[in-house]
Amino acid sequence: MAAKPFWQTKTLDQMSAQEWESLCDGCGKCCLHKLEDEDDGQVYYTNIACRLLSSADCRCQRYEERLQLVPDCINLSPADVDQFHWLPVTCAYRLVAEGKPLQPWHPLISGDPDSVHRAGISVKGKIFPESAVAEEDYEDFIVHWVE
Ligand code: SF4
Ligand code: SF4
Repeated sequence: MAAKPFWQTKTLDQMSAQEWESLCDGCGKCCLHKLEDEDDGQVYYTNIACRLLSSADCRCQRYEERLQLVPDCINLSPADVDQFHWLPVTCAYRLVAEGKPLQPWHPLISGDPDSVHRAGISVKGKIFPESAVAEEDYEDFIVHWVE
């Protein structure tokens, strides 16, 4: 019988750095600008992308330096697992934290990094660059396809 994959046998904080990074499906959703309702803490996603997000492959173009270049960039870590509720329901970190399985389109399951795009899960073809939208207009760009 084949051994179970690491995301089924390890908790998030037991994963190696390489395993942790590979868990990201490359959807790009968490790199969209978000608005938070100050009254109830509800998070609303817009379809405006961080300036470092590549519209071609939905990956960060300066991943190693991202935290210096974009102060708002959120460095996900196992220590923040109780705050993962703002992540999309499709996000592998959230799924694993909630004890749910990865979906067939996840690159770790499909073996193909493009499967997340073909399945329509990623932001590919759905986003505007932040340079095209004034910050005071972000509210007009709230979308409901990120759950
Ligand atoms: S939402 Fe999750 S899976 Fe998608 S890019 Fe962000 S961290 Fe990766
Ligand atoms: S800096 Fe990179 S990882 Fe951070 S939000 Fe922007 S595109 Fe995403």
